[in-house]
Amino acid sequence: MDHFLYRDGHLHAEDVPLADIAAEVGTPFYCYSTATLTRHFHLFDEALDGLDHLVCFAMKALSNVAVLKLLGDLGAGVDVVSGGEYARARAAGIPGDRIVFSGVGKTREEMTQALTGGIRQFNVESEPELLVLDEVATGLGLRAPITLRVNPDIDAGTHDKISTGRKEDKFGVPISRARDIYAQAASLPGIEVVGIDVHIGSQLTSLGPFEAAYGKIAELTEALRGDGHTIRRLDLGGGLGIPYARDNQAPPVPAEYGAMVRRTLGHLDCEIEIEPGRLISGNAGVLVSRVLYVKEGEDRTFLILDAAMNDLARPAMYGAHHDIVPLVEPAPGALHAPVDVVGPVCESGDTFARARDLPPLAPGDLVAFRSAGAYGAVMASEYNSRPLVPEVLVRDDQSSVIRARPTFDEMIKRDIVPSWL
Ligand SMILES: *Cc1c(COP(=O)(O)O)cnc(C)c1O
Repeated sequence: MDHFLYRDGHLHAEDVPLADIAAEVGTPFYCYSTATLTRHFHLFDEALDGLDHLVCFAMKALSNVAVLKLLGDLGAGVDVVSGGEYARARAAGIPGDRIVFSGVGKTREEMTQALTGGIRQFNVESEPELLVLDEVATGLGLRAPITLRVNPDIDAGTHDKISTGRKEDKFGVPISRARDIYAQAASLPGIEVVGIDVHIGSQLTSLGPFEAAYGKIAELTEALRGDGHTIRRLDLGGGLGIPYARDNQAPPVPAEYGAMVRRTLGHLDCEIEIEPGRLISGNAGVLVSRVLYVKEGEDRTFLILDAAMNDLARPAMYGAHHDIVPLVEPAPGALHAPVDVVGPVCESGDTFARARDLPPLAPGDLVAFRSAGAYGAVMASEYNSRPLVPEVLVRDDQSSVIRARPTFDEMIKRDIVPSWL
């Protein structure tokens, strides 16, 4: 459920017509709904009701500071994967004890930044990382709270590029080696073991793989406790999927996920952390774009938009589907015809959809890509020297630009021509 609906024939974000924002900000732009973000956070928070828990928004899905402040004010923590994300979280007012640090390649600088700035825990992904973190923490006279990310060797049944829990994936340590590495961790003066971490992939559309992984985590918890470790926190990762196409079967909802967590892990008396990204922000955002041209090819029609793969990379990167809808509601019974929806970038990969059935559209018309709030703006680039796409946040009848479109001057000024040229 989201708050992007037609009213009087015009697509709105909450109470604001998206066409009004287009007139003010220009196209393309991303628009997010406060009510939808809030609703999705509460769904997860309530799903874990009764368990000691923290919902840590995986901010790689959407990292605008305004959105982080909104979620942080609701009580969310965040999962960060870089020093830049850590800095954004702090800029949004999120305290260190609600920030978890994930990622296979943390640098010493990032470790220092988080240790001195405050951190809930590092999710450590390898033995070499563990040793470096020990060294950095000891050097600062601190102890780093850690979980070890274990790889349960479970196929999440999702897209290859976003599957992370199989033994051929680069993430975590093999679960079979976990007890040895925990023993090593316990011997390091700069390390404090607090729990276990697992994250098996993204855009999962069934609970089975989660349940299989969490079953292994339950066993590992008992085994590690038997070895004398304090395991008081389980970080279960993110990954619950969303319906990208309106007619697709809907994936499980947070309440069902929460019930499964209770069933598999509730008896362990652990603090539970989850790291949803996509399900919190995906359907809370749209990308609005204008039709530039309708080009009749030999055997197909191309709808050429002013948005491109640099603004929304998912279709080019993962072959992902996004529903595309006109901002003016089509008349009932309007004839739909297949068109190829493309952007202006000089690559054939700059194709959003092939043979997509759309109602008649003409140059100047506006369209919205639905479900674009996660892994949308954060993956945008300035390829083809197209200015970074702006972001707008709506609450009720208010809307604000939360990241402005840079001017050409601002873009060019970042380049430096050496004096010797
Ligand atoms: C990407 C990622 C997430 C979020 O995944 P979603 O599918 O967006 O929920 C959570 N935790 C880790 C470690 C990740 O890499």
